[in-house]
Amino acid sequence: MVDTEHLDVLIVGAGISGIGAAYYLQRDHPDRSYAILEARGACGGTWDLFRYPGIRSDSDLHTFGYEFKPWRDEHAIAGADKILAYLRETAAENGIDEQIRFHHKVSGAAWSSAGARWTVDVENAQTGELLRFSANWIFMAGGYYRYDRGFTPEFEGRDRFGGQILHPQHWPEDLDYTGKKVIIIGSGATAVTLVPAMADTPAHVTMLQRSPSYIMATPAKDVFANTAKTLLGDKRGYALTRRKNIVKQRAVYQFCQTFPGPARKIIRHLNAKQLPDGYPVDTHFNPSYNPWEQRLCAVPDGDLFKAIADGNASVVTDRIATFTETGIALQSGAHLAADIIVTATGLNLQMFGGVSLSVDGEQVDIAKTFAYKGMMLSGVPNFAFAVGYTNSSWTLKVGLLCEHFCRLLTHMDANAFDTARPVVGDPGMEGRPVLDFAAGYVQRALDLMPRQGDGAPWAMSSSYTADVKLLRGDSVLDPNLQFTTSDRDAAASAMAVTA
Ligand SMILES: Cc1cc2nc3c(=O)[nH]c(=O)nc-3n(C[C@H](O)[C@H](O)[C@H](O)COP(=O)(O)OP(=O)(O)OC[C@H]3O[C@@H](n4cnc5c(N)ncnc54)[C@H](O)[C@@H]3O)c2cc1C
Repeated sequence: MVDTEHLDVLIVGAGISGIGAAYYLQRDHPDRSYAILEARGACGGTWDLFRYPGIRSDSDLHTFGYEFKPWRDEHAIAGADKILAYLRETAAENGIDEQIRFHHKVSGAAWSSAGARWTVDVENAQTGELLRFSANWIFMAGGYYRYDRGFTPEFEGRDRFGGQILHPQHWPEDLDYTGKKVIIIGSGATAVTLVPAMADTPAHVTMLQRSPSYIMATPAKDVFANTAKTLLGDKRGYALTRRKNIVKQRAVYQFCQTFPGPARKIIRHLNAKQLPDGYPVDTHFNPSYNPWEQRLCAVPDGDLFKAIADGNASVVTDRIATFTETGIALQSGAHLAADIIVTATGLNLQMFGGVSLSVDGEQVDIAKTFAYKGMMLSGVPNFAFAVGYTNSSWTLKVGLLCEHFCRLLTHMDANAFDTARPVVGDPGMEGRPVLDFAAGYVQRALDLMPRQGDGAPWAMSSSYTADVKLLRGDSVLDPNLQFTTSDRDAAASAMAVTA
């Protein structure tokens, strides 16, 4: 074990959240030392990991981008290459890239109240060398899923299949699917991206889904945004578009929540308009749940519907009976032939980068903690985390909580506090999982998640407007957040005497 240095703040993860956190920290606390520990050899997180054809956002970049850095590209929905370029430009122009330690995988963090600091165990993912850092704060930006393994359910007969089986999270760089019969299992954002992208080459692609999801066409280019940027300049045009899109996203979400019946009808009508006459819309595009009970998938310029209308792609809604030597046998009795099967079946949810936490020698059971303001954990001092929205752009929330985190540090500096610990006042608070979402990957991991209560500060808000008030407007002072000053010097001299 090599002891390395002490930093004021350790940011875990150099994805869009970690790079954003570093920006705010530098801006508001230029004298604080920090480093970003990143397990992989590159920054960008999600946008560097996924390499499947067509990989893109389904949020518009005017809300998915940072508030402080205009999105200049004319495409509002963008591919991973453009998102990565934007992130790396942000890191380079702010000197954040110099603070990233690549191949540094954080495995554990132990808090000591006496020293008011974290001891952080890190493995060099290239050499296996074990390192140890210490820090006053951890800002966890490790995303929400496992990087090493995507989720694939057990499929009967999988070993019999003579072709290739792939998961989108582990895409082979040299895959040539020209002229191949491809089945994509799934109906989420990844499947609906892959289908038109692969159908673009001479291949036939079948999307095989157990049940439909909501899918909406959205313009890849935002005329409003591009006009606003031309007339007002990048900065003001971006800010205006961002505001417009925040309001629009919220209005759509609220409408779906309040009027699920009409919302369902509108989506069905819009889908039917883009599909060939007589297409069985109700079989393949009419989910059993209401709009926005799960994330709604956006398809830029209706590319999925176009691929179906052109005959290059088809959708089958059925259950898998078994894989066969040549494809997939379905419960309806039909058989789908395939050369390649893609299991776009999702992610394995993982909270806080899989890092095990302890506080004064006691292991933290994450499932027993409550999320405070959606950014700290009850009973865990000086630990902030970035979990964004699942009903609109993830980063809208992350920006707000970075601001709040910086204000918290300012308050602690002004009052010479070194410890901030959220404490649940009501020991009877039961709560529910912090990600209140019906998606399969969330449901599979309920026991790994912190909980949330019913009202602020213990509710995990999904409303940008409410969060602007809570995280940007309201004071950091809160009866549920205890500030203390440890007797660090006394602890240090006691240690020296013992030694
Ligand atoms: C294919 C795909 C498309 C998506 N599209 C959208 C979209 O359009 N809009 C939207 O709002 N959301 C989208 N999401 C959700 C998306 O992941 C987030 O919006 C966002 O990219 C998450 O950024 P992040 O920085 O929080 O996490 P990540 O991008 O996951 O980055 C986390 C980083 O932390 C590192 N890390 C993790 N654990 C450790 C550890 N223990 N030690 C050191 N480093 C660690 C990882 O290596 C990684 O680099 C999408 C997700 C996927 C998978």
